Amino acid sequence: REVLLDVQNLEYSFDTYAGEVKAVRDVSFQVMKGESLAIVGESGCGKSVTMQAVMRLNPEPPGRFKGGRIIFDGKEISKFNERQMQAIRGSEIGMIFQDPMTSLNPTMTIGKQIAEVILKHQKVTRAEAMKKAKEMLDVVGIPNAERRINQYPHEFSGGMRQRAMIAIALACRPKLLIADEPTTALDVTIQAQILDLMKDLQREFNTSIIMITHDLGVVADIAERIIVMYAGKIIETGTSDEIFKHPQHPYTWGLLKSVPRLDAQNKEKLVPIVGTPPDLFAPPVGCPFAARCNYAMKVCYEAQPEYTNETDTHKVACWLKHPYAPKVKNPFEKEA
Ligand code: SF4
Ligand code: MG
Repeated sequence: REVLLDVQNLEYSFDTYAGEVKAVRDVSFQVMKGESLAIVGESGCGKSVTMQAVMRLNPEPPGRFKGGRIIFDGKEISKFNERQMQAIRGSEIGMIFQDPMTSLNPTMTIGKQIAEVILKHQKVTRAEAMKKAKEMLDVVGIPNAERRINQYPHEFSGGMRQRAMIAIALACRPKLLIADEPTTALDVTIQAQILDLMKDLQREFNTSIIMITHDLGVVADIAERIIVMYAGKIIETGTSDEIFKHPQHPYTWGLLKSVPRLDAQNKEKLVPIVGTPPDLFAPPVGCPFAARCNYAMKVCYEAQPEYTNETDTHKVACWLKHPYAPKVKNPFEKEA
């Protein structure tokens, strides 16, 4: 598969009165055409900011693009100005967020809001845009499109509003869909329906998806590949199977033990990760997880662990992977 999005050594900070918050620190990853990727981590780990930085959604200042290159579909969009970015947002890259109520316009009918996006990015008449809007409601599984199209957001349930957001995000057939906690506000049944819908649409349109979530439980089914972030850095990345079945980083172990799975085969007790993430005004010189890690060694406080490759697709940044490190039992590996 071809590379659609290539993020290289991204550094993004916020300049505040209290100092520089180093929110994204040397983050590199790729998304292939038609691939679904999840970025997971606790709140404040930099997962949302990473994608906001890619899309240049934050006001600058206080946001500051410090370094790195972002190449989308062959174009170096990190060099784009705001006008060029606007042309891409909503057309080539669609976005959906946790709370559709804040992204939908309460004073405009759902149909008009979908049509609006189509009109902004495509050369069609208003009538054609409305017709497409109606088709999009069908696509995202909103029944009675004929009637629904003239309703306002408050007349929709939470799940239907999220479907409407997906309709807006996909209206221009984007190559990439970024979904930031798209199901967090929904109850579990509706959550599963929305995830199913996203999976179907991804297959149908061959859209790449980047799903941002604090909840590893929701990504098992939808993501082919997973990036685990901590304190603004990628600490482990692998295929969904590698992360769920052979996780290597103690933070990933903690995450997996602390979240219920939607498919809930594992009925084990949930254990929260004790402690809080480090201060991003002054990130630790060593491993960012050291203060909370049960396996921390002296070196962990002194130097950043390099990435080691478990497989071609599985990378982990942890000193336990060093050939001289003591062997610890991986709680997720079966005894050999
Ligand atoms: Fe724990 Fe050290 Fe690995 Fe960091 S590098 S996760 S502190 S063992
Ligand atoms: Mg967030």
